[in-house]
Amino acid sequence: MTKRILILGGTSDALELANHLSTNERFRLIYSLAGRVEHPRVPNQSCEIRKGGFGGIDGLASYLTTHRIQAIIDATHPFAAQITRHAEVASQTTGIPLLIYARPPWTSLPQDRWHEVPNLQHAAALIPSLGRRVFLAIGRQEVSVFAYCTDAHFLIRSIEPPTGPLPPDANILLARGPFYLDDELTLLRDHAIDVIVTKNSGGPATYPKVEAAREMQIPVIMVQRPPATSARPVTTIPAVEEWLKS
Ligand code: NAP
Repeated sequence: MTKRILILGGTSDALELANHLSTNERFRLIYSLAGRVEHPRVPNQSCEIRKGGFGGIDGLASYLTTHRIQAIIDATHPFAAQITRHAEVASQTTGIPLLIYARPPWTSLPQDRWHEVPNLQHAAALIPSLGRRVFLAIGRQEVSVFAYCTDAHFLIRSIEPPTGPLPPDANILLARGPFYLDDELTLLRDHAIDVIVTKNSGGPATYPKVEAAREMQIPVIMVQRPPATSARPVTTIPAVEEWLKS
C-alpha cells in the first residue's frame, strides 16, 4: 500500500530528500513550499507540488486530514521556526506522525573568529565593534533588521532581491548556492569585507564563506538557531527511510 507523505520543503536538503524518496513507488509525495520565492527549485515530476501557507495550525491540521496524509516530514530551514512549531502541534492534534529532518549546525574550529549571537538584532548591534564593510549572507527576508546600521557598507547576497528597508549604503548581489571557497575568497577580497554576518544554517552549500573567513581571519557574526522543538531531528536520508518503515 502506498504511504501519503507531506514534505515541508524550501531547502536544498528537502529537495534532495524528495528526489530520493520519489524513487520508492510505495511513497506518494506532496512537496510543500511557502511560496515566497518566485522561481523555486522543485523536485522531479513524480512529486506533487503545493505552494503557499496552510493558514496556521488549524489550516495545516485540516490539510493533513483532508488530503489523507499519513506522515509529515519537516525538512524546512532550521530558521523557519514557525512552520516547524505548527507542524508539531498539528501532528499532535491529528495523530499523524511527524519527523524533523535537519542538517546539523556548523561548529567552530580553534582558528575561527566567531561571535555567536542569539538573533539578528544582536548581530546588527555587534557590527560597529567589529567592522565597517559587512558581508550580509542571511537570505532576503530579514535584511530590514540592518536598515538602521548607517555607519557600515553592506554587501547583501540573496537568491532574490531583499524585501523591506535596506541599510543606506548597500550593494545587492543575487546568487544561489552552492558556493565555492575560491570564489568566496575572491568576493571577500574584492569587496574588502572585514566582517561577515550569517545564520548557522549548517550544510556544505554555503559553508565556504565560513572557510574563507577562517583563511582570511575575518570575524564572523554567527546567528544561532532558534530554540529546538521537543522532537529530535534526524540528519540523514537513511534515518528518514528507517522512520518511514515504522
Ligand atoms: P516560518 O517563519 O517558519 O513560517 C512562516 C509561515 O510560512 C508559516 O506559518 C506557514 O504559513 C508558511 N510556511 C513556511 N514554510 C512553509 C512550507 N514549506 N510550506 C507551506 N507553508 C510554509 O518560515 P520562513 O522562515 O518564513 O521560511 C519560509 C520558507 O523558506 C520555509 O519553507 C523554509 O524552508 C524556507 N527557507 C527559510 C530560510 C530562513 O532563513 N528562514 C532560509 C532558506 C529557506 P501558514 O501559517 O499560513 O501555514
